[in-house]
Amino acid sequence: MPEPGKDYPRNWNEFMDWFSEEEKCYEYLEKIRWKNGFICPSCLIQKEPYRSTRGRLICRSCLHQTTVTAGTIFHKTRTPLRTWFSAIWYVTNQKQGTNALGLQRVLGFKSYQTAWAMLHKLRRAMIRPNRERLKGIVEVDEFYLGGRESNVRGRLVEKKSIVAVAVELNKTGAFGRVRLRQVWDVTAESLIPFVCDVIEPGSTVKTDGWPSYNTIEKYGYEHEMIIMSTSEDPAHVSMPGVHRVASLVKRWILGTHHGSFGSQQLDYYLDEFTFRFNRRKSRSRGLLFYRLIDQAISHSPEPYSSLIGGL
Ligand SMILES: [Zn+2]
Repeated sequence: MPEPGKDYPRNWNEFMDWFSEEEKCYEYLEKIRWKNGFICPSCLIQKEPYRSTRGRLICRSCLHQTTVTAGTIFHKTRTPLRTWFSAIWYVTNQKQGTNALGLQRVLGFKSYQTAWAMLHKLRRAMIRPNRERLKGIVEVDEFYLGGRESNVRGRLVEKKSIVAVAVELNKTGAFGRVRLRQVWDVTAESLIPFVCDVIEPGSTVKTDGWPSYNTIEKYGYEHEMIIMSTSEDPAHVSMPGVHRVASLVKRWILGTHHGSFGSQQLDYYLDEFTFRFNRRKSRSRGLLFYRLIDQAISHSPEPYSSLIGGL
């Protein structure tokens, strides 16, 4: 477990002190990326490297040259690491999430696009590629974002996005972790792969009576179906987790993003929400900073062109 004051700054003063120079930021990244010392990405030998100008690290055994940012979201960035770190500190300290305009203002960027691209790279880093699946008792549902509100399922959805949601319930009924994903429709072909990707087999999956979920027992899950029309309870009582998360996501999109998002970007917003929600009990914002940097340097770089959907 990373320690406050040793592995991450406890507050803004400490932050300013630790990262006063570009050099110190590189050292910090090295410490996080190679927790047990530098490992050559080419020959995999672990040995303190030669150091040359502009942060180049040279393997003592095969002379392969690399940098601590190679292959990460900071790769070939023209933005100083200090600015990146400030952005990450800001993003992880905003409880209600961040938008590009806010980031642009606080860091004093001339261009909105710089802030926007930075934020999207960070959102990509918020999701660990090999994260664990949810387990135990998990509620699964879908909800709509954008357009007119409607509870009628199965009708043509125009200008609306559909989000599949899974929420873990602890034994006490408290909410655990969440997973969210944009789906194109509410057929079994869209919803079953979501369940299989995010929930550990053997878990109990609670859904409403929507027929797309009928076959999930075949995939190794216990299925508990709650038929809303016959249940005495309204949705927020019988399926409290998904109901609560859906309303938080809607409020968040409305508040932080003023209700507007492109459906190409929605998955990244959902990733940011998930990152925050799953760490909502973490008292230390500094720890969030550490986690995001840790994930950012284990993530592949994303050129700007792929951020806007390949356009
Ligand atoms: Zn080597």
